[in-house]
Amino acid sequence: MEIHEYQAKEVLSRFGVTAPPGALAYSPEQAAYRARELGGDRWVVKAQVHAGGRGKAGGVKLCSSDQEIQNICENLFGRKLVTHQTGQGGKGIYRVYVEAAVEIERAFYVGLMLDRSSQRVMILASPHGGEEVEEILSQRPGSVTRTTIEPAAGLRDFQAREIAFALGVSPAVTQQMVRTLKGCYRAFTELDATMIEINPLVTTADGRLLALDAKMAFDDNALFRHPQISELRDKSQEHPLESRAADRGLNYVGLGGHIGCIVNGAGLAMATMDTLKAAGGEPANFLDIGGGASPERVAKAFRIVMANDRVQAVLVNIFAGINRCDWVARGVVQAMQEMQSDIPVVVRLAGTHLVEGQKILAQSGLPIIRAATLRDAAERSVAAWRSDQAQATKLWAEP
Ligand code: ADP
Ligand code: MG
Repeated sequence: MEIHEYQAKEVLSRFGVTAPPGALAYSPEQAAYRARELGGDRWVVKAQVHAGGRGKAGGVKLCSSDQEIQNICENLFGRKLVTHQTGQGGKGIYRVYVEAAVEIERAFYVGLMLDRSSQRVMILASPHGGEEVEEILSQRPGSVTRTTIEPAAGLRDFQAREIAFALGVSPAVTQQMVRTLKGCYRAFTELDATMIEINPLVTTADGRLLALDAKMAFDDNALFRHPQISELRDKSQEHPLESRAADRGLNYVGLGGHIGCIVNGAGLAMATMDTLKAAGGEPANFLDIGGGASPERVAKAFRIVMANDRVQAVLVNIFAGINRCDWVARGVVQAMQEMQSDIPVVVRLAGTHLVEGQKILAQSGLPIIRAATLRDAAERSVAAWRSDQAQATKLWAEP
């Protein structure tokens, strides 16, 4: 789960990370009001969306009067901000953060993430922070310091100081850098984060170290033990089908292709997507219906997959262990009868109650294309998507 910049700043402030004073607003009038409340004469208005690259996309604006703030906000609220991280659809702007503008002296990049190869939390730090950081990280990888943290010891002071030295900060800032890095590490581990990124982390002429941006993501599987974090969820920033599926306990991830997939088990779902690709198709989604799925649950999954208007064919691939082929078949038939769509549906069943399942499909009177194996199912799905009726429905032996 991701959270907004203003939320991440608030969370990190509890761990000793300092940011400029700021205030959240839900309307242009409120933004102007909150700027007057903050005081000062220069502010930065920042669209709160779950994506980076807001500055370049016009979502971060420097303002020097409350009238200007109001005008900028009239333009931001309700709009979709499209950045290089959002995809074409963009993300809706429903909140803006008004923050005191800071005179930047130097801008650093600091990121914490899980490094899978060392199985440790890794801290990345670069002296070239800011909006071009992605180009700099790829063009000059040598300028990035990577520090892996031994979990039993945590981030030691000397390691944090080494990072500060590598960034070349003054002795006065070194102490603040150590506090910031240690705070981030503590937040990362105590809150089960998967990513913290401060870009830019800046120094000012008067010797302060401030986080001007902050991003945090959390491990969904650990959210149950952090109610104060799960409260920060903003569904307006999520893929509507993904949050609809999550609310129903289904694991759905939208993808770019045209063949909808309904599978049980994450491993089989991935194998199904691979086989589909090998057969020349592209999956429209990843979907794991889980174990012991009732007909109602299968029907729900079917509706979610079909709600994606890119879907031009559906592949149901179930290897029933705890699941039951007859329940899956009933769910598919129920959903198809309700929807009366002419999108071709390919079903491959194997395992528990297979014969009953096949019977339900065969007797439903629906144009369901049945398949014997995963490969057969993938090939039929691709043929059906290409409207090659003969190939999709070629004869097969009833198991
Ligand atoms: P994003 O990374 O999504 O583009 P940022 O919060 O990093 O958004 O803002 C983009 C840029 O705007 C920053 O790199 C920084 O140069 C500038 N900026 C952001 N906040 C402030 C601030 N409070 N004062 C001055 N400049 C800021
Ligand atoms: Mg940034």
